[in-house]
Amino acid sequence: MPISEPTDDLGSIFRRLIQNTGPMSLAQFMGESNARYYASKDPIGLGDGVSGDFITAPEISQMFGELIGLWLADMWINAGREEPVYYVELGPGRGTLAQDALRAARNYGLEPAVHFIETSSTLKDIQLRAVPGALWHDDLSSLPTDGPMLLVANEFLDALPIRQLVRMASGWRERLVGLGGDDFIFVAGDQPMDAAVPAGWKDAAEGTILETCPAAAAILFEVAGRLEQQGGAALFIDYGHTELQAGSTFQAVQRHEKVLPFDAPGTADLTALVDFGTLAQIAKSRGVRHIGTATQGDWLRGLGIETRAKHLAQRAPQHAADIDAALHRLVADDQMGKLFKVMGLAGPKWIGGAAFSAVVPES
Ligand code: SAH
Repeated sequence: MPISEPTDDLGSIFRRLIQNTGPMSLAQFMGESNARYYASKDPIGLGDGVSGDFITAPEISQMFGELIGLWLADMWINAGREEPVYYVELGPGRGTLAQDALRAARNYGLEPAVHFIETSSTLKDIQLRAVPGALWHDDLSSLPTDGPMLLVANEFLDALPIRQLVRMASGWRERLVGLGGDDFIFVAGDQPMDAAVPAGWKDAAEGTILETCPAAAAILFEVAGRLEQQGGAALFIDYGHTELQAGSTFQAVQRHEKVLPFDAPGTADLTALVDFGTLAQIAKSRGVRHIGTATQGDWLRGLGIETRAKHLAQRAPQHAADIDAALHRLVADDQMGKLFKVMGLAGPKWIGGAAFSAVVPES
């Protein structure tokens, strides 16, 4: 280790911790790394492919946020235009999605109070400039309870800390982070973890890895409880699959490239695929309607993104090529169209749910 390395370098802190108390959980490694990462910088690129570490859908095109705003307005109108009504966004990034969604919703008379869940003070400053009237919370517990909630979370769940379980000859164990020299390596814990393995997976082949995300499960439990009590609708958008699959999806991205997730904790975005199947089950267990889980491509096309792109290009022909490129990026199967999913949830009396109708709910 170079002598000049600052003592508060997160890698050094983790090494000391592991040396003193033994291997640490992957959830702690990921949670503390991402807390440090998001607090220290604005990681989201501006669509030029150079700035930031990664690019998100709302930064690719205004069409993304606008269609979300229209979807929410449609749900709210169907449910009888109840007031007060709250727009809640989890991890709003640069505030671009909220800005676009709220502008589109306003055309339909929907002007909700805006509440953001955000822990990064760097990003809060940027969000304040984008949406001046917003209020901030560290978690969902302090959100208002006196009206329906229209909730959006784009690329939020994938950044929450996961645990990994691995099937050993002797049974299931947690995959922990230990040290091999100065390098972080996976080691199997010595506690039996069979009780934590979902039904149907207990006898999986040796070497099988399963991921769980207790933080995402807790958030879905809370959001669904509020939808059931307060009414409203929610859209969770992320890259993930519609049912639990085996294998490690833990990865790190820095400057638009995949890097090794153990290399420099706190300096790269650590993510894992979202298990939408399990999250939909949690929502349903609380009496909430799972409208469906669609691919991002199908969902945006169902809301008319192609027509919208055509109109924008007619109005600004000098940007036609850019608009077309953005459309392709959002909906094409080999871009964000297939790997990204949109999960729609609604409170008991909240009917409809555009663009999910062609989708057969998978559970
Ligand atoms: N939704 C935005 C940003 C995605 S990046 C977009 O689509 O562009 C992830 C966002 O979640 C960031 O705003 C980050 O600061 C926030 N975040 C990550 N972990 C969080 C946590 N545990 N609690 C609250 N916000 C968190």
